[in-house]
Amino acid sequence: MQDLDNHPAMLCSGHAACPGCMEALSARHVLARMGPDTIAVIPPSCMAIIAGPQPYSSLKIPVYQPTLEASAAAASGIRRALNATGRGQTQVLVLAGDGGTYDIGLQALSSAAERNEDMLYVCLDNEGYMNTGAQKSSSTPLYARTSSTPAGKLSRKKNLTAIIAAHGVPYTATASVGFMPDMLRKIDKAKAMRGFRLLTLLVPCVDGWGLPDDGGLRAARYAVECGAFPLYEVEHGTRYTVNHRERTRPVAEYLAVQKRYRGMSADETARLQAEVDAGWDWLMRLEGREAGQFAP
Ligand code: SF4
Repeated sequence: MQDLDNHPAMLCSGHAACPGCMEALSARHVLARMGPDTIAVIPPSCMAIIAGPQPYSSLKIPVYQPTLEASAAAASGIRRALNATGRGQTQVLVLAGDGGTYDIGLQALSSAAERNEDMLYVCLDNEGYMNTGAQKSSSTPLYARTSSTPAGKLSRKKNLTAIIAAHGVPYTATASVGFMPDMLRKIDKAKAMRGFRLLTLLVPCVDGWGLPDDGGLRAARYAVECGAFPLYEVEHGTRYTVNHRERTRPVAEYLAVQKRYRGMSADETARLQAEVDAGWDWLMRLEGREAGQFAP
């Protein structure tokens, strides 16, 4: 990859991700862009498996593994220790899954955002607890089948980006490996800022979503193209910008490439399409008025 030619790789080959894993691909680009003067905080997650057990590591930077709920608190402590020892330029990077972010780590995350701690928190969102057997998280979308919701989840996906944006932090954004230039631009933009920054990257999971090994990028693109995972950024809690404005396929085409939506009825598909449409309208209204902070 040309991008990695210009940014030395910080993630080694031989790591433990599943073949075709979009999380490893995403992390590879995040780490390359962040560079060697970075300390990573990685809670229990697929990313912790990819990073490897001590004393081994697939990352070429220091890694601290906190408990599942404590990533943002641990990163806050590391940030303050770096500042106290004259290393204010060193980046503190959290690489957490959606379970450790939307659910179990949300309290520490909210507190760090409220204090505007200087860190880049990247949520590698594969919409479930994939490394423990694909259980549902609060990021799992409506009707998706997981090992703990075998008939389909009955509640909607939590809007993490809007929740953290409502703290008034400098930067929150969504991004996807399916739209690489947009993702790389957002990593660079977040890296250049100070204060609390959140990037949520959708990482289709070949195992938990029921994708072929080469199906991750297609799912990543379809999620954006149907509007189920819109690409947008929020600056200082109020300035919403939608980065990919064309919706070029129905939600049904996105569902059809994944086994986790198998057996959905026409009514359920229509309800999911309506939910995506409503979320899109909400986003358009926020972008237009630059003032709202509240999810529908
Ligand atoms: S379970 Fe999914 S996210 Fe985790 S390493 Fe495998 S493909 Fe990647």
